[in-house]
Amino acid sequence: MKYAILTHGGAASPHAHSDGCVKAAEAARDVLESGGDALSAALAATVMLEDDPRFNAGTGSNLRFDGKTIEMDASVMTSDARFGAVACIERVKNPVLVAARVMETPHLLIVGDGATSFARACGFDAYDPTTEGARSKHARAMADLRGQGDGDFATDVAPWQKIDWPRLWNFASEPPIQDTVGAVVRDGQGRFAATASTGGTVYMLRGRVGDSPLMGCGVYAGPAGAVAATGVGEEIVRRFLAKTVYDWLEEGIPAARAAQRGIAKFPEIVDVGLLVASREGQAIASNRNMASALIVG
Ligand code: ASP
Repeated sequence: MKYAILTHGGAASPHAHSDGCVKAAEAARDVLESGGDALSAALAATVMLEDDPRFNAGTGSNLRFDGKTIEMDASVMTSDARFGAVACIERVKNPVLVAARVMETPHLLIVGDGATSFARACGFDAYDPTTEGARSKHARAMADLRGQGDGDFATDVAPWQKIDWPRLWNFASEPPIQDTVGAVVRDGQGRFAATASTGGTVYMLRGRVGDSPLMGCGVYAGPAGAVAATGVGEEIVRRFLAKTVYDWLEEGIPAARAAQRGIAKFPEIVDVGLLVASREGQAIASNRNMASALIVG
């Protein structure tokens, strides 16, 4: 069977960042070509994307609304139904590697302080993922909000309810606001893996969790293929997107059509992107620009 490696740099990320996705896909290809499986390849690609400060995952993750806190979400799933995830993990370099260690436990998802302590127990050193780019992105986001609420957004939900959300989720800023990363791999033996890793969106309360660490929402994998999603997490969760698209693959719908149908479930105002690999094909789809790469071998 031909292998396929798909990587993305987030719904609404500029095509100019696709070089980072290409490098990540090449790292995954090196793993496959030296005998590694889909899981190892997907992790290698995701680590490379997390380490690229242009993307909102690992180094370069978004700051929460308080302008100080970084909480990251990541997950990984394989076609033999193994799954591991962390949510709101702090001060680690590569959340996806911690998610992979969760696969070795009886649990699926570990969150918050528990996730950070679990990482330390596994030997992951303390690391500050804050970048100047994330600081200025946060400053621009705050400037954009000025005058739209009259409370303390960091601690109080009420002022958020006055916000014109549709405008804010799509506010024009450069670089763009999301840039989550993910990978999907089919190896030569027909095994699949999918990953997601994110610093979340821009306007986030502390403790907010998106789709990325939720099985069936941000990622899903099974014998028929693998799916990774990116975009507005709350909207992706509402549509149970990754599992919905996977089910179409299982019904025999081609990867490209399944990906397009997945994107079509969202109104135009919601950013969304998908990586999809099936036994026979693969597809990348988004309703925005999306930095991405595909290697088929
Ligand atoms: N899905 C991510 C989240 O909502 C963000 C993204 O994909 O850009 O946390």
